[in-house]
Amino acid sequence: MELLLENALVLLDTWPYRFERRNILIDGQFISKVSKNKLKAQEKLDCTNKVILPAFINSHTHSPMSILRGCGEDSSLNTWLKLHIWPLEKKLTDEDIYWGTLLSIIQMFENGIATFNEHYFNINSIVKAIKKANIRSVIGYSMIDLGDFDSKGAKELEIASKIAYELKQDKSFLLAPSINPHAPNTCSKELLRQSAILAKKLNCVLHTHLAETAAEFKFTKEKYGLSPTELLFKTGCLSEKSVLAHSIYVTKKDIKLIKKSKSSIAHCPIANLKLASGSIAPIKEFFENNINLCLGTDGPASNNSLNLLESAKIAILLQKNLYKDASILSADHALYMLTEGGAKALGINSGSIKEGKLADLVFFDLNSPELVPFSNSAAWIIYSASSASITDLLINGKFVLKDKKLLTINKQEVIKKLSLLREKLLLKN
Ligand SMILES: [Zn+2]
Repeated sequence: MELLLENALVLLDTWPYRFERRNILIDGQFISKVSKNKLKAQEKLDCTNKVILPAFINSHTHSPMSILRGCGEDSSLNTWLKLHIWPLEKKLTDEDIYWGTLLSIIQMFENGIATFNEHYFNINSIVKAIKKANIRSVIGYSMIDLGDFDSKGAKELEIASKIAYELKQDKSFLLAPSINPHAPNTCSKELLRQSAILAKKLNCVLHTHLAETAAEFKFTKEKYGLSPTELLFKTGCLSEKSVLAHSIYVTKKDIKLIKKSKSSIAHCPIANLKLASGSIAPIKEFFENNINLCLGTDGPASNNSLNLLESAKIAILLQKNLYKDASILSADHALYMLTEGGAKALGINSGSIKEGKLADLVFFDLNSPELVPFSNSAAWIIYSASSASITDLLINGKFVLKDKKLLTINKQEVIKKLSLLREKLLLKN
């Protein structure tokens, strides 16, 4: 089935980014033509009043955590995890995970996100929600052994491996497996080493947290005499298929190692600010070193939104403030992280509007007051637009959001169910 999006204002893959009127022909799950000329198709949609961009890619999140939103507010990362989140996570049921993921997917749809990079547990319930909603995901089981490979790590690796092999068989085109050791300070050296071997064997993404806090840096330095980045490098966890969330506490030497390995960094500025991780990731230096950058919201309990456009704006504003120079990075860098950077990091054939790319597209209302007057630059979207102007989202050639209405999920049902489950969760001993 062909669908023609006629006369839309389309983001071109130029640098700096520009918008021009184009007709986009979609054939099945792919974009088959992008042209200034008139095109024919069985089904047509007049997009004269739409701005169309590649749909956004959330490169680091823990989507079921929307059920934990609001727990342990205003505490530091360590307190937040140990006193509030980890005890509640032990009580989560399959239902909690399923409905929590669906609530997050609703928010991702309304924020123009077509793909998310997931790092959690109880993967089967998350996959069930993904298939129901028709969203794209790179997904892996979150492994933690707290330094004990023999009695914990080996088992964790077995679970992760089984899930990854199963996901590899999935033919929906929406799912890709990843291997997810939790972090350099929560995984043994052997678990990191084995994770790298497994990811290589499966030829898939290795997704981990890296250098999120000063405490993590101190921990690996004291235990191994290595920075968290050096530890990942030594254990083989840095490669062009690695996605490193945070990467705040990095030395000049670490930046060289990340560059050499061609790993990608998923910058999560809002969660870092909210949990007071203490510093700001040096993304200006990452860009200067040609390290691929993408953006993550992190989990909905530590952000608390799943608004990636907000993260993109804040990412750039923080660097301007840090270097006291408004020209240090531009809105183009933010738009790159939202789209092409995420696609490159996750190895997904999306992120730009070109023939042969997956039809993952987000539509903004050109008549939205915040988009008036038109200005032909990335800044127009990054600084002026908000998710309130998003009207439609197309994933894998299918609308999941049309005229602001969700097509694959019953929003009221999810809200009601999640609220009840949350009440139950807090009452559990
Ligand atoms: Zn995280």
